Amino acid sequence: MADFPLFIDGQFTDAASGETSQTIDPSTGESVGTVAKAGPEDAARAIAAARASFEDRRWAGKRGSDRAAVLAAVGRGIRARAAELAELEARDSGATLAKAKGADVGGAGFWFRTMAEFAPRLDEPEPLPLTIAPGPSHNYLRREPVGVCAAIIPWNFPIQMAAWKISMALAAGNSIVLKPAPETPATAVKLAEILQEAGVPDGVVSIIPGPGPGTGEELVTNPDVDKVSFTGSTEVGRQIMRLAASTVKNLTLELGGKSAQVVLDDADLDLAVDGALYGIFFHSGQVCTAGSRLLLPESLHDDFLERLQARVGDIVVGPALEKGVTMGPLVSQKQLDTVLGYIDVGKKEGATLATGGVRLENDRLSRGFFVAPTIFTDVTPEMTIAREEIFGPVLAVQRYRDVDEAVALANDSDYGLASGVWGSPARAMDVAARLRTGTVWVNDYHLLSPKYPFGGFKQSGVGREHGYLGLLEYTEPKHVHVGLDARRENKRWFDMTIPRQR
Ligand code: NAP
Ligand code: MG
Repeated sequence: MADFPLFIDGQFTDAASGETSQTIDPSTGESVGTVAKAGPEDAARAIAAARASFEDRRWAGKRGSDRAAVLAAVGRGIRARAAELAELEARDSGATLAKAKGADVGGAGFWFRTMAEFAPRLDEPEPLPLTIAPGPSHNYLRREPVGVCAAIIPWNFPIQMAAWKISMALAAGNSIVLKPAPETPATAVKLAEILQEAGVPDGVVSIIPGPGPGTGEELVTNPDVDKVSFTGSTEVGRQIMRLAASTVKNLTLELGGKSAQVVLDDADLDLAVDGALYGIFFHSGQVCTAGSRLLLPESLHDDFLERLQARVGDIVVGPALEKGVTMGPLVSQKQLDTVLGYIDVGKKEGATLATGGVRLENDRLSRGFFVAPTIFTDVTPEMTIAREEIFGPVLAVQRYRDVDEAVALANDSDYGLASGVWGSPARAMDVAARLRTGTVWVNDYHLLSPKYPFGGFKQSGVGREHGYLGLLEYTEPKHVHVGLDARRENKRWFDMTIPRQR
């Protein structure tokens, strides 16, 4: 069997075709192991198992409080294996150990624990107003599972995103098939072991690493799938919307971003400088919410840049598992080429390269995919590096004259995922109210939580995930009307169709 097999209907298995691929450690270019490569036939089998598990109600029929007990056990299982999972995540995805422990594995456990808290709330129907006219009725809302969910995720937060999708789907009583990105399948397969040990019934969760074309497409077109939850690029999101239209699936899309960080002239500069650097260079900028545009007031511009350049030199770039490293590699050769391409475009279009802009190569780094933290200044709104998502360690600095202009610049984007404001809270909150993004962080950045909803305005997505609001998107609301007046003579609307008996 492959080192990282498929998990379908409670069994670890090779792909039906027998095909495998290698997953690479982006710090070293070395193989982490062989991965079973799921094809469309494997996807179809996983969907059939999910359908069967949903129809016989082996999971959907449990009370939310019973599902919660299993989810909490998954959380404990993740915690028990945290060190092993974090090391594997760092090797497979290039996350630094700090990110792998804190954000990825820590986040995965946090999501399961929080969804365990939310699940019992779904047991209680929500009361709706009692109706008197035209006849008395009792009304309530049940939150039922959508059915079979398909989840497709990218490579930047592998175990955390697997945990997002699976914990929400399970909390609400759905069955789910997850397709991890082919670059980073390793920890999702380990998560399957933990789910099984925690008592998730066979068929309710399947995990099938495989390519988007073919395998992913089967997930978004198969009539037995009720909901698709996709996280990835806006371009693929558009394709998925079209493909899912054939069977009118329930859809959640978490797509790309080009998020602005606005520094106000009363910001705490030490905080804002470090915050701006963290906002863009966390995980080498391979974050959907990366604060890739920095908007500085004229009055602070030169001083702020000087401080930024002094601090950026403190970032330690290197292999993900090495002690003291604070920024790891890009995930793949492909992503490296993409990012270097954008840096060339930035230079050609006339932005000033203030720092970085090169691949880092020496004895220690040349086999991995490392790019220096890069800062462009004199960036204008029409430049490619101000408009397109780069998904790499590239910051575009723009200047503004007054707050109105800052807001206009920040909102001048097809995207609307997130933004940040650095400044005194009251003024920053005024700006926050005017930014057209699904999340605004004030004097903080990148803080996602299972307790709060997350998603995009504009072309950054459709729907919300996380928080109780996000969990509800894994449910179908069902209105139940109970007529309270059983007297035929009071059901006047019957007469519209069937005459009263004489
Ligand atoms: P991507 O190219 O859109 O791929 C995402 C996933 O979709 C992969 O598993 C991919 O498999 C699959 N896929 C591709 N074509 C498909 C198709 N026709 N049908 C079904 N599935 C298909 O994104 P990426 O390059 O991996 O990740 C980076 C992007 O994700 C960025 O744009 C980033 O902003 C976005 N992102 C968004 C969020 C958010 O929450 N909003 C979070 C993280 C990342 P293959 O790789 O085999 O094609
Ligand atoms: Mg890998």
